[in-house]
Amino acid sequence: MYRSLVVALNVFCASILGAQSPGQTKLSVHWEELTAADFKDGIARSQGTCLLPFGIMEKHGPHLPLGNDLLNVRYVALNAAQQEYAVVFPEYYFGQIFEAKHEPGTVAYSRGLQLQLLQETTDEMARNGCKKIIIVNGHGGNNSLLPFFAQTQLEAPHDYVVYVLGITRSGPGEPKHKTNPATDMHAGESETSMSMIARPDLVHLDRGGRRCRGDP
Ligand SMILES: [Zn+2]
Repeated sequence: MYRSLVVALNVFCASILGAQSPGQTKLSVHWEELTAADFKDGIARSQGTCLLPFGIMEKHGPHLPLGNDLLNVRYVALNAAQQEYAVVFPEYYFGQIFEAKHEPGTVAYSRGLQLQLLQETTDEMARNGCKKIIIVNGHGGNNSLLPFFAQTQLEAPHDYVVYVLGITRSGPGEPKHKTNPATDMHAGESETSMSMIARPDLVHLDRGGRRCRGDP
């Protein structure tokens, strides 16, 4: 019994340590959790690779939280970084969402500020050693903003590279969908399924079939 518990704990610790080799000290993948000295070690361990998970604050149907995209994209990025060490930038949700300004809780910064803040954020990440910055997009409303931002990096020489990646909500071997995939979009079955993995405590499935307050 005791022996099997020790084995189980070792397996558990190995899985927590993830990408860290034996002998390496445990380093958080969260930028904000590292000390200044540990941050330098983290940048070296990641070989200058940093993730910028990009979410939003917007209504997600009657059943999901406003920060749904932020919570989901951070869940994916943080788990990925634990498998292959990378430093993950703190919460970032300053994207394009003018189309939902009329809904409660939406945070929509101006066009100029979105671009300037993102540029200064990647510049600051690079100044701190992030030479390969992967913007991980969790919000469909950024799908035009982010490729444009990446293209504009050619405007001036940089000592770092920006990559833009999305997260996939479905893949081979997934369970059969319960709803029509053609209309499974914002706050639909696939997105809700992801939220049930990332933050099941915030998913109100009992409210899923309701009309939203204010809908005609
Ligand atoms: Zn969403």
